Amino acid sequence: MNEQRPTVLIVGAGLGGVMLGALLEKANVPYTILERASTVRSLGAALSIGGTLLVLFEQLQILSEFVSLAKCYTQSTVGNESGETLSTTNYVPLQTLTGYRGYIITRPAFYNLLLKQIPAHKIHFGKRILNVNEVKDDEDNDKVRIQASDGTIYQGDILVGADGAYSAVRQRLYERLKLEGTLPKSDEEDLPFTCTCLVGQTEPLDLEEFPELKDPESLMITTMGTEKPYSWVVFGTGNGSVCFMVLHHLDRTTSRAAQEQRFRNSENSEWGPHAAQSMCDETRDFSIPIGIGKKTLGDLYDRTPKDLFSKVMLEEKVFTTWFSGRTVLLGDG
Ligand SMILES: Cc1cc2nc3c(=O)[nH]c(=O)nc-3n(C[C@H](O)[C@H](O)[C@H](O)COP(=O)(O)OP(=O)(O)OC[C@H]3O[C@@H](n4cnc5c(N)ncnc54)[C@H](O)[C@@H]3O)c2cc1C
Repeated sequence: MNEQRPTVLIVGAGLGGVMLGALLEKANVPYTILERASTVRSLGAALSIGGTLLVLFEQLQILSEFVSLAKCYTQSTVGNESGETLSTTNYVPLQTLTGYRGYIITRPAFYNLLLKQIPAHKIHFGKRILNVNEVKDDEDNDKVRIQASDGTIYQGDILVGADGAYSAVRQRLYERLKLEGTLPKSDEEDLPFTCTCLVGQTEPLDLEEFPELKDPESLMITTMGTEKPYSWVVFGTGNGSVCFMVLHHLDRTTSRAAQEQRFRNSENSEWGPHAAQSMCDETRDFSIPIGIGKKTLGDLYDRTPKDLFSKVMLEEKVFTTWFSGRTVLLGDG
């Protein structure tokens, strides 16, 4: 049966790559995941997951495990630094419509749950894909062939570029389309940087000090900075910890400087710990709307293990071209 099914090559073992791998595993479609990193690092804050994905988790038979790791929510609020609520979003109508509740889950817990669905021999680490070619095999069938930096070559029927915002698969695809004259002009433009983002997760907190966390529903509260180009969000998680996401909204000048810094720091989408540290220092006095007494982001940072901080650029751009020939792009790519 498998011989008649297409073989899928997935470049990138991020959230998109492992989600697709889990689905192909369930559907018994042959696939291989190739990841440039030598190991997976569990980074990030919280993700909000609703009906569109939960229906898939049900089919993958991981819904109950997912729910045990997550915390449901029905509303989110936006307030200012004085503690006034500016807006509230009620998710109940949406949840009634889809038939599924919404959940907050930490990014590492979610990633590990998906990764567990993939047999170890189907993910190859330390495989940085450099070249992509559409070729014919000995029987004149169309195939796609990719080459990793260590010289290994993989051949399959479908190539999925799940390799993030700076996707090598996308770059190779766009180079080909540009030569053919079929790449839209907007797809040639760089990703814009408008925000830097500090994310992290505290250790489980003292519920007497942070009584809001006793609520069986998760909290999701955004604070808009007063006369400062920052906003910050706190989320409650299933294990009594708090995830935070601090956004620095860049103006045109700082955006350009951040872009240059980004290229100096590597092509990975995360910055080193020193960069996270300087953003912590800049923002630790910002007030947060949870906890007894006047709490600040610093109270969360002081309870966050160093390796659970990360600082990422938020690049937001929708590319027009997402497939051509035997190649398709997925996720941030
Ligand atoms: C450090 C970090 C923290 C984040 N935290 C949050 C959060 O808290 N909340 C939230 O909502 N969103 C968060 N995001 C954003 C969200 O996680 C991304 O939108 C999501 O991860 C995108 O998934 P993806 O699979 O498309 O790409 P990615 O997760 O970026 O995965 C791409 C993978 O491809 C690999 N790769 C890249 N190039 C190659 C190559 N040439 N060959 C082989 N492999 C390659 C990379 O190493 C990486 O593992 C975070 C992103 C990052 C990077």
